[in-house]
Amino acid sequence: ASFDTAGLHPIMLANVKFSRYGIPTPIQKYCIPAVHQGYDVIAIAQTGSGKTAAYLIPILNKLMGKAKKLAAPRPNPATFRPGVDVPARAEPLVVIVAPTRELAVQIFNEARKFCYRSMLRPCVVYGGGPIRDQIDQLQKGCDVLVASPGRLIDFIDRPAVLSLRRLRYMVIDEADEMLHSDWEEEFGKILSGGDQEEGNVKYMFFSATFPKPIRELAKTHLAEDHVRI
Ligand code: AMP
Repeated sequence: ASFDTAGLHPIMLANVKFSRYGIPTPIQKYCIPAVHQGYDVIAIAQTGSGKTAAYLIPILNKLMGKAKKLAAPRPNPATFRPGVDVPARAEPLVVIVAPTRELAVQIFNEARKFCYRSMLRPCVVYGGGPIRDQIDQLQKGCDVLVASPGRLIDFIDRPAVLSLRRLRYMVIDEADEMLHSDWEEEFGKILSGGDQEEGNVKYMFFSATFPKPIRELAKTHLAEDHVRI
Protein backbone atom coordinates (compact mmCIF):
# COMPACT_ATOMS: atom_id res chain seq x y z
CA ALA A 1 0.00 0.00 0.00
CA SER A 2 1.18 3.52 -0.74
CA PHE A 3 -0.18 7.04 -0.42
CA ASP A 4 0.10 7.41 -4.22
CA THR A 5 -2.70 4.91 -4.78
CA ALA A 6 -4.89 6.03 -1.84
CA GLY A 7 -7.04 8.32 -3.99
CA LEU A 8 -5.71 11.56 -2.52
CA HIS A 9 -6.35 15.08 -3.84
CA PRO A 10 -3.13 16.50 -5.38
CA ILE A 11 -2.82 19.09 -2.59
CA MET A 12 -3.20 16.41 0.10
CA LEU A 13 -0.73 14.09 -1.62
CA ALA A 14 1.80 16.92 -1.79
CA ASN A 15 1.28 17.70 1.91
CA VAL A 16 1.69 14.03 2.85
CA LYS A 17 4.91 13.83 0.84
CA PHE A 18 6.14 17.04 2.44
CA SER A 19 5.64 15.37 5.86
CA ARG A 20 8.10 12.71 4.65
CA TYR A 21 5.61 9.92 5.24
CA GLY A 22 6.84 6.98 3.18
CA ILE A 23 4.14 4.33 3.40
CA PRO A 24 0.88 4.27 5.38
CA THR A 25 1.08 2.69 8.84
CA PRO A 26 -1.29 -0.28 9.40
CA ILE A 27 -4.00 1.85 11.00
CA GLN A 28 -3.79 4.34 8.12
CA LYS A 29 -4.03 1.48 5.63
CA TYR A 30 -7.41 0.44 7.06
CA CYS A 31 -8.74 3.81 8.17
CA ILE A 32 -8.20 5.85 5.00
CA PRO A 33 -10.40 3.72 2.70
CA ALA A 34 -13.06 3.30 5.42
CA VAL A 35 -13.45 7.09 5.73
CA HIS A 36 -13.32 7.57 1.97
CA GLN A 37 -16.18 5.08 1.69
CA GLY A 38 -18.21 7.02 4.25
CA TYR A 39 -18.16 4.62 7.21
CA ASP A 40 -18.15 5.55 10.87
CA VAL A 41 -15.03 4.10 12.50
CA ILE A 42 -13.89 2.92 15.90
CA ALA A 43 -10.18 2.21 16.11
CA ILE A 44 -8.24 0.80 19.01
CA ALA A 45 -4.95 2.59 18.51
CA GLN A 46 -1.96 3.61 20.60
CA THR A 47 0.03 6.81 20.41
CA GLY A 48 2.79 6.32 17.86
CA SER A 49 0.63 4.21 15.54
CA GLY A 50 0.04 7.14 13.21
CA LYS A 51 -3.58 7.47 14.37
CA THR A 52 -3.72 11.25 13.98
CA ALA A 53 -2.90 11.08 10.28
CA ALA A 54 -5.19 8.04 9.96
CA TYR A 55 -8.20 10.31 10.47
CA LEU A 56 -6.85 13.68 9.35
CA ILE A 57 -5.69 12.52 5.91
CA PRO A 58 -8.96 10.96 4.68
CA ILE A 59 -11.28 13.51 6.33
CA LEU A 60 -9.41 16.56 5.05
CA ASN A 61 -8.91 14.83 1.72
CA LYS A 62 -12.66 14.29 1.32
CA LEU A 63 -13.35 17.92 2.20
CA MET A 64 -10.69 19.28 -0.16
CA GLY A 65 -12.57 17.74 -3.06
CA LYS A 66 -15.58 19.87 -2.19
CA ALA A 67 -13.98 22.72 -0.29
CA LYS A 68 -15.30 25.42 -2.61
CA LYS A 69 -18.85 24.27 -1.99
CA LEU A 70 -18.48 23.54 1.73
CA ALA A 71 -16.05 26.03 3.21
CA ALA A 72 -17.61 29.07 4.82
CA PRO A 73 -17.17 32.42 3.05
CA ARG A 74 -13.66 33.70 3.68
CA PRO A 75 -13.30 37.22 5.00
CA ASN A 76 -10.22 39.25 4.15
CA PRO A 77 -8.09 38.87 7.30
CA ALA A 78 -6.61 42.35 6.83
CA THR A 79 -9.94 44.15 7.04
CA PHE A 80 -12.04 41.67 9.00
CA ARG A 81 -13.52 43.02 12.24
CA PRO A 82 -14.55 40.10 14.48
CA GLY A 83 -18.10 40.38 15.74
CA VAL A 84 -18.88 43.18 13.29
CA ASP A 85 -18.35 41.52 9.91
CA VAL A 86 -19.82 38.16 8.91
CA PRO A 87 -19.21 35.32 9.56
CA ALA A 88 -19.61 36.18 13.21
CA ARG A 89 -19.31 32.57 14.24
CA ALA A 90 -17.36 29.47 13.36
CA GLU A 91 -19.19 26.77 11.43
CA PRO A 92 -16.61 23.98 11.29
CA LEU A 93 -16.93 20.98 8.99
CA VAL A 94 -14.78 18.87 11.32
CA VAL A 95 -14.52 18.79 15.11
CA ILE A 96 -11.75 16.77 16.76
CA VAL A 97 -11.99 16.31 20.52
CA ALA A 98 -8.81 15.57 22.49
CA PRO A 99 -8.51 15.09 26.28
CA THR A 100 -5.62 17.49 26.91
CA ARG A 101 -4.33 20.81 25.71
CA GLU A 102 -1.01 19.20 24.71
CA LEU A 103 -2.70 16.61 22.52
CA ALA A 104 -5.07 19.23 21.02
CA VAL A 105 -2.13 21.44 20.02
CA GLN A 106 -0.28 18.46 18.58
CA ILE A 107 -3.30 17.47 16.47
CA PHE A 108 -3.76 21.11 15.40
CA ASN A 109 -0.15 21.22 14.18
CA GLU A 110 -0.67 18.06 12.11
CA ALA A 111 -3.94 19.48 10.74
CA ARG A 112 -2.11 22.67 9.75
CA LYS A 113 0.39 20.67 7.71
CA PHE A 114 -2.33 18.74 5.90
CA CYS A 115 -4.51 21.83 5.26
CA TYR A 116 -1.59 23.75 3.76
CA ARG A 117 -2.50 25.39 0.42
CA SER A 118 -6.12 24.23 0.71
CA MET A 119 -9.27 26.23 1.50
CA LEU A 120 -9.54 24.59 4.91
CA ARG A 121 -8.69 26.62 7.99
CA PRO A 122 -7.78 24.82 11.23
CA CYS A 123 -8.29 26.26 14.73
CA VAL A 124 -7.55 25.01 18.24
CA VAL A 125 -9.32 25.83 21.53
CA TYR A 126 -8.70 24.44 25.02
CA GLY A 127 -9.39 25.17 28.65
CA GLY A 128 -6.98 27.46 30.44
CA GLY A 129 -6.34 29.52 27.32
CA PRO A 130 -7.82 33.05 27.21
CA ILE A 131 -11.36 32.61 25.92
CA ARG A 132 -11.49 36.09 24.31
CA ASP A 133 -8.56 35.25 21.98
CA GLN A 134 -10.18 31.95 21.11
CA ILE A 135 -13.47 33.67 20.27
CA ASP A 136 -11.62 36.10 17.97
CA GLN A 137 -9.87 33.16 16.34
CA LEU A 138 -13.14 31.31 15.76
CA GLN A 139 -14.87 34.40 14.40
CA LYS A 140 -12.24 34.74 11.69
CA GLY A 141 -13.55 31.45 10.34
CA CYS A 142 -12.79 27.84 11.14
CA ASP A 143 -13.34 24.69 9.09
CA VAL A 144 -11.40 22.23 11.25
CA LEU A 145 -11.76 22.71 15.00
CA VAL A 146 -9.55 20.84 17.47
CA ALA A 147 -10.88 21.22 21.01
CA SER A 148 -10.59 19.92 24.54
CA PRO A 149 -13.95 18.61 25.79
CA GLY A 150 -14.72 21.25 28.44
CA ARG A 151 -13.94 24.18 26.18
CA LEU A 152 -15.88 22.65 23.31
CA ILE A 153 -18.95 22.43 25.57
CA ASP A 154 -18.42 26.07 26.60
CA PHE A 155 -18.57 27.03 22.92
CA ILE A 156 -21.51 24.73 22.13
CA ASP A 157 -23.32 26.78 24.80
CA ARG A 158 -22.42 29.99 22.90
CA PRO A 159 -24.27 29.59 19.60
CA ALA A 160 -23.27 33.11 18.58
CA VAL A 161 -19.63 31.94 18.44
CA LEU A 162 -19.88 28.32 17.32
CA SER A 163 -22.45 26.47 15.25
CA LEU A 164 -22.24 22.79 14.29
CA ARG A 165 -24.91 23.05 11.60
CA ARG A 166 -22.33 22.44 8.84
CA LEU A 167 -20.55 19.65 10.70
CA ARG A 168 -19.64 16.60 8.59
CA TYR A 169 -17.11 14.75 10.79
CA MET A 170 -16.63 14.42 14.51
CA VAL A 171 -13.55 12.62 15.87
CA ILE A 172 -13.06 11.67 19.51
CA ASP A 173 -9.35 10.99 20.04
CA GLU A 174 -8.07 9.11 23.11
CA ALA A 175 -11.69 8.55 24.12
CA ASP A 176 -10.75 6.37 27.10
CA GLU A 177 -8.83 9.31 28.59
CA MET A 178 -12.14 11.19 28.89
CA LEU A 179 -13.89 8.62 31.08
CA HIS A 180 -13.86 10.58 34.31
CA SER A 181 -16.86 10.82 36.61
CA ASP A 182 -19.15 12.91 34.40
CA TRP A 183 -18.22 11.24 31.13
CA GLU A 184 -21.80 10.31 30.26
CA GLU A 185 -23.06 13.87 30.43
CA GLU A 186 -19.96 15.23 28.71
CA PHE A 187 -20.08 12.81 25.79
CA GLY A 188 -23.82 13.39 25.46
CA LYS A 189 -23.31 17.13 25.11
CA ILE A 190 -20.42 16.75 22.69
CA LEU A 191 -22.00 14.11 20.48
CA SER A 192 -25.52 15.51 20.30
CA GLY A 193 -25.60 18.77 22.23
CA GLY A 194 -25.05 21.16 19.33
CA ASP A 195 -27.14 22.13 16.31
CA GLN A 196 -25.65 19.50 13.99
CA GLU A 197 -28.07 17.99 11.49
CA GLU A 198 -28.81 14.44 12.43
CA GLY A 199 -27.68 11.96 9.81
CA ASN A 200 -25.16 14.33 8.23
CA VAL A 201 -22.26 13.64 10.58
CA LYS A 202 -19.74 10.77 10.41
CA TYR A 203 -18.33 9.79 13.79
CA MET A 204 -14.92 8.34 14.58
CA PHE A 205 -13.71 7.09 17.95
CA PHE A 206 -10.05 6.43 18.73
CA SER A 207 -9.14 4.77 21.99
CA ALA A 208 -6.09 2.99 23.40
CA THR A 209 -8.28 0.56 25.36
CA PHE A 210 -11.78 -0.75 24.79
CA PRO A 211 -13.60 -0.75 28.16
CA LYS A 212 -17.36 -1.11 28.54
CA PRO A 213 -18.22 2.64 28.44
CA ILE A 214 -16.40 3.00 25.12
CA ARG A 215 -18.17 -0.06 23.75
CA GLU A 216 -21.50 1.46 24.84
CA LEU A 217 -20.66 4.81 23.24
CA ALA A 218 -19.79 3.07 20.00
CA LYS A 219 -23.05 1.14 20.12
CA THR A 220 -25.20 4.22 20.70
CA HIS A 221 -23.39 6.83 18.60
CA LEU A 222 -21.84 5.02 15.63
CA ALA A 223 -23.80 3.88 12.59
CA GLU A 224 -24.77 0.21 12.75
CA ASP A 225 -22.47 -0.67 9.85
CA HIS A 226 -19.42 1.08 11.34
CA VAL A 227 -15.92 -0.24 10.76
CA ARG A 228 -13.85 -1.53 13.69
CA ILE A 229 -10.08 -1.33 13.36
P1 AMP B 1 0.51 9.48 16.25
O1 AMP B 1 0.33 8.00 16.49
O2 AMP B 1 -0.60 10.07 15.48
O3 AMP B 1 0.79 10.21 17.52
O4 AMP B 1 1.80 9.66 15.30
C1 AMP B 1 3.12 9.30 15.68
C2 AMP B 1 4.18 9.93 14.78
O5 AMP B 1 4.31 9.22 13.56
C3 AMP B 1 3.94 11.37 14.40
O6 AMP B 1 5.12 12.11 14.62
C4 AMP B 1 3.62 11.32 12.91
O7 AMP B 1 4.05 12.50 12.26
C5 AMP B 1 4.37 10.11 12.45
N1 AMP B 1 3.73 9.41 11.31
C6 AMP B 1 2.41 9.20 11.15
N2 AMP B 1 2.16 8.50 10.02
C7 AMP B 1 3.35 8.24 9.45
C8 AMP B 1 3.75 7.54 8.25
N3 AMP B 1 2.86 6.97 7.43
N4 AMP B 1 5.08 7.48 7.98
C9 AMP B 1 5.97 8.05 8.81
N5 AMP B 1 5.67 8.73 9.95
C10 AMP B 1 4.36 8.82 10.28
